[in-house]
Amino acid sequence: MQRAILWFRQDLRLADNPALDQARQAEHMIPVFIWDPEQVWIAGGAQRVWLHHSLQALSAALKAKGSRLIIRVGPTAETLNALIEECQVDSVFWNRCYEPASIARDTQLKSELQAQGLTVKSFNSHLLFEPWEIKTQGGGPYKVFTPFWKNCLSQERSITLAPEPRELPAVATQYASAPLEALELLPTLDWDIGITDFWQVGEQAAQEKLQDFLAQQVKAYHEKRDLPAIQGTSLLSPHLHFGELSPRQVWQAAQDCPPSEGKRVFLSEIGWREFAYHVLFHFPDTAEKSMDARFEKFPWKPDNGELKAWQKGMTGYPIVDAGMRQLWKTGWMHNRVRMIVASFLTKDLLLPWQMGADWFWDTLVDADLASNSLGWQWAAGSGADAAPFFRIFNPVSQGEKFDKEGRYVRQWVPEVAALPNKYLHRPWEAPPLTLLEAGITLSETYPEPIVNHKQAREDALAAFESIKTRK
Ligand code: FAD
Repeated sequence: MQRAILWFRQDLRLADNPALDQARQAEHMIPVFIWDPEQVWIAGGAQRVWLHHSLQALSAALKAKGSRLIIRVGPTAETLNALIEECQVDSVFWNRCYEPASIARDTQLKSELQAQGLTVKSFNSHLLFEPWEIKTQGGGPYKVFTPFWKNCLSQERSITLAPEPRELPAVATQYASAPLEALELLPTLDWDIGITDFWQVGEQAAQEKLQDFLAQQVKAYHEKRDLPAIQGTSLLSPHLHFGELSPRQVWQAAQDCPPSEGKRVFLSEIGWREFAYHVLFHFPDTAEKSMDARFEKFPWKPDNGELKAWQKGMTGYPIVDAGMRQLWKTGWMHNRVRMIVASFLTKDLLLPWQMGADWFWDTLVDADLASNSLGWQWAAGSGADAAPFFRIFNPVSQGEKFDKEGRYVRQWVPEVAALPNKYLHRPWEAPPLTLLEAGITLSETYPEPIVNHKQAREDALAAFESIKTRK
């Protein structure tokens, strides 16, 4: 092996990177990232901001090891082929992606390149288990999480993590790289300030966050993970999505922590991520279509402006609005609140889950086709192991239960911050004097609820009744 291309995709790290380990055996290794503006499910706005900073971090990390990232812009296959020709490589290595379009593209590329006589190998670096490895007793895919995860946990395997390489082969200067700015990943308006203030991007930051979380929070994870006002979860999702961190690294690092309920529950969330990939692999339509076919005929309502109110955090339900504003500002939303806002969109507003998934796709830094589709279909009641449709979250009682002291709502919805806890999650029930004292004029300083939850719940149940018996 003389010259190898290492094709970076969703594995923007140097440690535990099997494709890198293979490619660096070559005399010359050319690390490449291709930005294809025409790709299917192209990164949304928030993800692009993350990607920009992540590529910057990867570039610097490669440089520190003596290598160099070659960035190119253009249609993937054409650009990769041109690079192969230009660099005269005899092998190409990459870590696998699992979105249906990526699988189709990579399968075709692999066979074409192999037919040209190149050595092409792909590796698993994104999951603990390949989606096709875990099977039901009947040999099929799982649709329910618990037996899926039980099966995963029963698999015997030892994890050996490749350490970060000390040095890497230099890349010849004649291979030009496009400047990162050529990818135009950053917005022209500065709406990304909240994202860049909130997050540290890149492999090193991911490792630090993992270590901090395991040292300080994992033990109480099971008790605190549902409270959006505190940092009770790991905030690792964007790092995992972009492969700045691998689930194997998470798993391995967690083994050094003493056993606890918090650790068990945390690792089972990594299991949900595995399950999401398993479901998307076996049911590739679920990124766009309801898995439960009855929902194809669901009487969703036309949008009369409710979508915008939801997106902007102006529904009049403080917990929903807090979540949507946290999302807009930081590119992330707490999982409990994701469930609340998703239930609100699909069941209170009766808008199709795909509308919510699209908005999340554009605004989440961790937007991930597998987890987003599973999350939305779970909330809508149409997916694998979904919450039943008749389980409709009450945005008031959810707020009162999980944000009892109102710290989360007060942080994100300052208009209602001066209300006493009793009315914080239901401002429309506050007596006129209380509203006055809190400086609130409903419809002016803060919206009236855009739907009446009690009525909306009845409408949703009736809508569900109409498809319930359909085959
Ligand atoms: P932690 O609680 O610390 O969990 C650790 C890791 O486990 C996460 O980083 C994530 O990789 C994984 N994980 C946790 N919960 C889930 C879950 N329910 N499904 C799949 N993986 C999970 N997660 C995404 O990564 N990308 C998405 O686009 C996404 N969209 C969602 C949409 C909806 C409507 C819902 C209800 C959930 C969605 N989730 C998504 C799952 C979950 O909300 C996030 O993974 C979690 O909030 C990330 O925060 P964290 O890293 O602190 O999680």
